[in-house]
Amino acid sequence: MRFMFPVATLTVAVSISASAQSVVRTADPIKRGLKLTDFPRTIKVADNVYTYEDFHAGDEKFTTTNMFVVTDQGVLVADGQGSVPETKGLVEAIAKVTAQPIKYVVICSDHGDHTAGNAAFPAGVTYIIHPASKATLERAEAARPGRGGGGWKLPADAMLVSDRQSLKLGAETIDILFLGRAHTGGDLSVSLPRRKILFLSETFLNRVFPAMRSAYPTEWLKALDRAEAMQADLYIAGHGFTESGPVSKEELHEYHKAMEGVVAEARRLHKAGVSVDDAVTQANFGQYGDWTLSKSQGPIAIRKVYEELNGHLK
Ligand SMILES: [Zn+2]
Repeated sequence: MRFMFPVATLTVAVSISASAQSVVRTADPIKRGLKLTDFPRTIKVADNVYTYEDFHAGDEKFTTTNMFVVTDQGVLVADGQGSVPETKGLVEAIAKVTAQPIKYVVICSDHGDHTAGNAAFPAGVTYIIHPASKATLERAEAARPGRGGGGWKLPADAMLVSDRQSLKLGAETIDILFLGRAHTGGDLSVSLPRRKILFLSETFLNRVFPAMRSAYPTEWLKALDRAEAMQADLYIAGHGFTESGPVSKEELHEYHKAMEGVVAEARRLHKAGVSVDDAVTQANFGQYGDWTLSKSQGPIAIRKVYEELNGHLK
């Protein structure tokens, strides 16, 4: 028995129709020509596949981006937002496009800006997580009980994916992939092979400066090699805007080059015998110095690459 819903009366989603040339390549909503009141927003990227964008906390505005896939056997969500009210917004946006229940939530990034709203997901959803991220969340919860927000803790029955796991949900095959340690060490991606769509979460930051607080710089570069080698038609970033397919491929490549550039600059300074504190002030990131978060994330990136070069990164 299927109920008919008055979908025609609902504002469902915008679509990505702008041509590749007309899109301003930036994570900044104002430079992009958008208004702050345009967010949060739902974008239909393919039949039954959507992204949801809401702003990250802080003065510098850029989006945290989630993906959801609707099937006649329920909905899979890749990543949440950073607070319970914001993830509630995501859950409500899903309810506007489908009456299907949320079945799976993939924790692609274990960071709070993607998990601290998880209490807003319905009880009984199955979480999917990499074992390293499970350990990270459990350590954080032990150190600071209630950190998960709204009393949320990773349920004991969470499904662990350490390499790859294929799910069949309705007519959709959904592959959960670990492309290697990148931004968190437990980075999962969600691939829709039939549609050639790859949600990369924080392995791909679209025009946001490489954020390395918990990163593995050299392994992250290898994960980006693997992502590009998959030749998806659409790559979706965990931060920054949802792009059209052709732009998303160019921007993933651009992000890859930014990562290489930042790592190379840190290596150059390290090789020249510059101390890490001096390297932080001397580093020149060129064009990437204009990217969102460069002022706060540049020094963190230099310190992380030095840590790796000095053999202190495990
Ligand atoms: Zn994040």
